[in-house]
Amino acid sequence: MKLSRRQALRGAFGLGATAAVATGAARAESTSATESEQPKASAPIGLLYDTTRCIGCKACVTACTSANGLAPDSGASEGLHQMPQDLNSRTKNIIKLYTSPDGSERSFVKRQCMHCAEPACASGCPFHALRKDPVSGVIGWDGELCIGCRYCEVVCPFEIPKFEWDRFNPKVVKCELCRHLLDAGAAEPACTAACPTDAVIFGRREELLHDAKGRIESSPGKYHQNRVYGEKEAGGTQVLYLSHVPFARIGLPVLEDMSLPEYANRYHRIIYQWMALPAAVYAVMAGVIRARWKKHDHEAMEIERAGGPMDQL
Ligand code: SF4
Ligand code: SF4
Ligand code: SF4
Repeated sequence: MKLSRRQALRGAFGLGATAAVATGAARAESTSATESEQPKASAPIGLLYDTTRCIGCKACVTACTSANGLAPDSGASEGLHQMPQDLNSRTKNIIKLYTSPDGSERSFVKRQCMHCAEPACASGCPFHALRKDPVSGVIGWDGELCIGCRYCEVVCPFEIPKFEWDRFNPKVVKCELCRHLLDAGAAEPACTAACPTDAVIFGRREELLHDAKGRIESSPGKYHQNRVYGEKEAGGTQVLYLSHVPFARIGLPVLEDMSLPEYANRYHRIIYQWMALPAAVYAVMAGVIRARWKKHDHEAMEIERAGGPMDQL
């Protein structure tokens, strides 16, 4: 069952018993969806970004802004250039520069939604406003369902979704892998189409991973730890990275292989297991008390029949 934003708000503010019940039902459904985990995408697509190929031209940033109909963030340059300082409600894609304290090490890094295989944002969204496409694995946002609770913003391990604080009817803004372009027949997203050096490329995740591993194999030692970031982190992501500097230095968090939803499901299971034990103890205790009370009643009747006072018991 899906709820529109209006119905959800009505439920949330208690403006009608019917809506409240519907909201509760939706929450219950959401919980069971969480427990049953997000379905795996059958043909996941994604991006592969290679720091060693990026020249920091930011063609991908402007292409992204334009393709997504966003107003350029030029505040930091007093209106002269598009110059976002970080991902924000007008910026779904950003290029940042890392420089080591002594200046000897530098790297550009492209940041956008990672399109997680097991997305924390979508698995906990109470109204399914963020959903994983069952085929492409792209995590899309549905403004009709979003109530603006900002759960996704808080829970994302990569700090990606941004909320439009300055609008009356705010959106959650994040890269949706240009699904509107792909649905309309485009061969690739705007950022990869604009990149002059193939620093970021688009394709099936499986093929991108194969390509990345091939680059590592043909140039051992060129890439940090000779591995692909996103292959396993947080359950695996559909956006993959190769970097010549440690991943953490370019803002890619150190994460375990298990995704947050999987952690949550495990804790749920443990909590329910431990809750089951006291419930069983209480059930046994209730049975014993009931049996004793029946025995007590029976004895009271016997004594009463024999003429003894009830209050002896
Ligand atoms: S990076 Fe964050 S917003 Fe993107 S899919 Fe993963 S959890 Fe969701
Ligand atoms: S896939 Fe589209 S929305 Fe995502 S970063 Fe690239 S251009 Fe922006
Ligand atoms: S367009 Fe390509 S080379 Fe230019 S900043 Fe973006 S990823 Fe780097």
